Amino acid sequence: MRQVIVAGNWKMNTNKAEGEALVSGLKEGLGQTSAEVIVFPPFPYLGGIAAAADGSPIQMGSQDVYIEDNGAFTGEVSTAMLKDVGCSHVLVGHSERRHVLGECNTLINKKTRKGLEDGLKVVLCVGELFEERQAWQMESVLNEQMSWGLAGVTAEQMSDVVIAYEPVWAIGTGLTASPAQAEEAHLYLRKWLELHYSSEVAENTRILYGGSVKPDNAAELIGQPNVDGALVGGASLKADSFLGIIAGAG
Ligand code: PEP
Repeated sequence: MRQVIVAGNWKMNTNKAEGEALVSGLKEGLGQTSAEVIVFPPFPYLGGIAAAADGSPIQMGSQDVYIEDNGAFTGEVSTAMLKDVGCSHVLVGHSERRHVLGECNTLINKKTRKGLEDGLKVVLCVGELFEERQAWQMESVLNEQMSWGLAGVTAEQMSDVVIAYEPVWAIGTGLTASPAQAEEAHLYLRKWLELHYSSEVAENTRILYGGSVKPDNAAELIGQPNVDGALVGGASLKADSFLGIIAGAG
């Protein structure tokens, strides 16, 4: 039985006070949930968010990481720095890093491997553009992003990997994949894991859906057999809506 994950990617939003208030609100409202809850705040606020989340089951991750331990890499942040401020997870390959910041599959793979080698859990994001879906290329895009992203990642390390299927056309657009569209892509990804690893890895790996998840569509999406939770952008910025999604996750 795969434990559901509800993760909030705050992107470049909130200030220090807002972020800490958001986590305090989550902490107060969380109640009993069977879901794992993870927040991904902006780098400067990680320390404060860790303190605000202390004593709660809320886990924290960073939105990015660099592939070296230290040195002359202006602007970059290492795995050790992230762990030092309380991160357990890192997002890798988010579509905004692929398509806005120009990250290539090789760098994404290096980040995935570096995060895993150094003890972070990696949420690897994959997903097709609108024009790729229109051209019936969803599966080939997912195959390419999975093959590159997970190259050199062992079956053992897969227990620290979460896949997030995020169709780019549904991110921040208000367009959501239908439950059937999400399930089709997730099933493809689970079969991919079986083919390239094993049925055990396929059975145990959590695959999250991301793309305009809201309290009113979360339960139906997460209720699909191969959807193991949600990666949420916009609706994770308000405690009420994020809590509504967590409630929908069961
Ligand atoms: C995201 O950024 O990962 C995301 C899914 O955003 P939104 O929920 O706003 O579409």
